[in-house]
Amino acid sequence: MKKTTEEAFNSKNIRLTTMRILIYEYMQTLSEALSLADIEKYFHKADKVTIYRTLQTFLEKGLVHKIMDENQARYRLCADSCEQEEHNDRHLHFYCRKCGQTTCREEIILPESLTGSLRIDEIQILAKGICEKCLTAS
Ligand SMILES: [Zn+2]
Ligand SMILES: [Zn+2]
Ligand SMILES: [Zn+2]
Repeated sequence: MKKTTEEAFNSKNIRLTTMRILIYEYMQTLSEALSLADIEKYFHKADKVTIYRTLQTFLEKGLVHKIMDENQARYRLCADSCEQEEHNDRHLHFYCRKCGQTTCREEIILPESLTGSLRIDEIQILAKGICEKCLTAS
């Protein structure tokens, strides 16, 4: 079951502000990870500094995780298991060279047994290729 915005924010100790709610709900509607520029473009009337700070807050609180793909940083909502300063996004990220989208592949996870007794604060696993959509379209 999907959490409401209020529940999601409360569970991560994030204060509700209009801009935060708008950005979170926008990210929820899409399946791909978004860059700062994508979010700025969508909220073109909003203050860029506010958008940037909102993302930083989300990152710090464990609400979104950051993925570095070929060109830029992108952001995607985290699973519930992420906490402040300890992200647990052990899944694969896939960058499509054709459509340029980066998606989370939660079904492909780095097993905990491989990381042993390390304390990992952040994991980035990036694969590059052609996504299903582009493959079937060609
Ligand atoms: Zn996370
Ligand atoms: Zn593609
Ligand atoms: Zn991800």
